[in-house]
Amino acid sequence: MSPIMRPNSQALKQRSLHETEREFGGTLGAVCIPVLLPLTVLFLISVSRSPEASLLQWPPVLPSTHQLWDPVALVLLLGWIALHALLYAMPLGKVSEGLTLRDGTRLKYPINGFLGLCVSGVLLILLLELGAPLGSLFELLLPLAVCAIALSFLFSIYLYIRSFWAPSHALALGGNTGNPLYDFFIGRELNPRIGNFDFKYFCELRPGLIGWVVLNLGMLMKEVELRGSPSLAMMLVNSFQLLYVADALWNEEAVLTTMDIVHDGFGFMLVFGDLAWVPFTYGLQASFLVEHPQTLSPLGSLTIIALNGIGYYIFRKSNSQKNQFRRDPTHPSVARLETIATATGKRLLVSGWWGLVRHPNYLGDLLMALAWSLPCGFSHLLPYFYVIYFTVLLIHREDRDERQCRAKYGLAWDTYCRRVPYRIFPYIY
Ligand code: NDP
Repeated sequence: MSPIMRPNSQALKQRSLHETEREFGGTLGAVCIPVLLPLTVLFLISVSRSPEASLLQWPPVLPSTHQLWDPVALVLLLGWIALHALLYAMPLGKVSEGLTLRDGTRLKYPINGFLGLCVSGVLLILLLELGAPLGSLFELLLPLAVCAIALSFLFSIYLYIRSFWAPSHALALGGNTGNPLYDFFIGRELNPRIGNFDFKYFCELRPGLIGWVVLNLGMLMKEVELRGSPSLAMMLVNSFQLLYVADALWNEEAVLTTMDIVHDGFGFMLVFGDLAWVPFTYGLQASFLVEHPQTLSPLGSLTIIALNGIGYYIFRKSNSQKNQFRRDPTHPSVARLETIATATGKRLLVSGWWGLVRHPNYLGDLLMALAWSLPCGFSHLLPYFYVIYFTVLLIHREDRDERQCRAKYGLAWDTYCRRVPYRIFPYIY
């Protein structure tokens, strides 16, 4: 046990019990979500490859045990995580500091996720050259998801138990209600680490996110096996999502100021989201296309590419503008923007992208999400699962962020809301 670790004080538990508001439906949500979401992952994968691909079918398709379990999947998953843990720990790339913590310290984080993506790409090319059957990932999708779900549970239990030895200042304020079910779900410890290895930061952008595009490539190779060449629809889905993942990793440093890193504890919600939900549901369009090929017209393809481009432009520009403003408000690219003062000393942008709506980055993200589904045509609802789910997620996330900002900035936040009345969609919401 590390010398700085000691059991948390009862006082903190009591204080946060009364002061923090429970999220995601409180205890009921904390009990239902860990049961329902893993089942949803397995259901969606099963449905995406069924001939009907109907989200509304009842009873749902029940996969047999041999479809759910394959030891090869476990070896692949553990090997994949070990590879990325190794790449994370290598002294390559720059090291950045996170925001100042409650005890006044700042943690250090390696910025080498993009390198992890490049190394993964080179390894995959080598494997393809050696004739590795990457298309088999299609058959392994269910067992891989089962292993990722099981791992998420085991890892979250470990995180919950070890959090009792973390110092009180290292706990997330929202994750210490004293209700074990809720705290397990939402996460007690803010930045659980072994030495310099930060579990939350590692899981946020590496094994799951890079795993997602590798699975997509597997679906593309399956299409090649079945039909001789990849379809345009499959190539669009693969390239759009690769761009998204590459962008996240290229701008890895920006994750250090997100709600996930700064505010949320590391519990089942984030572990499952990072390791199981993202890789196995965000790429459903690709697995759908394997069994449901689509033909795209040149005009249709160009429209979809343009939509993804516009979404990406809004997403990237708005995120970069805020990040630049938070890092250095005197930088020439942001110095002329109109701002309002807050009692904390920080200012809020009221012009530029952040004067258009209160979350322009979510708007761009949602336009891209739509562009990822459109190559799958209009015959099925399933490929639109992501954009529907993501709209709900971002509306909920926007609401959480608004509440946190109102608590942080008080009257200044209300002034901002009056100046910029729409949250995500101009003139709509
Ligand atoms: P945001 O990048 O939207 O950051 C919100 C924070 O920005 C606020 O808490 C506040 O923090 C600051 N802020 C808000 N308004 C202003 C303003 N007017 N001027 C200056 N600062 C302001 O947070 P997220 O982590 O939610 O999103 C980051 C990106 O990740 C987004 O593009 C989002 O779409 C994407 N995302 C993707 C997900 C996925 O599953 N694909 C899931 C979640 C997010 P402060 O004032 O303290 O700096």
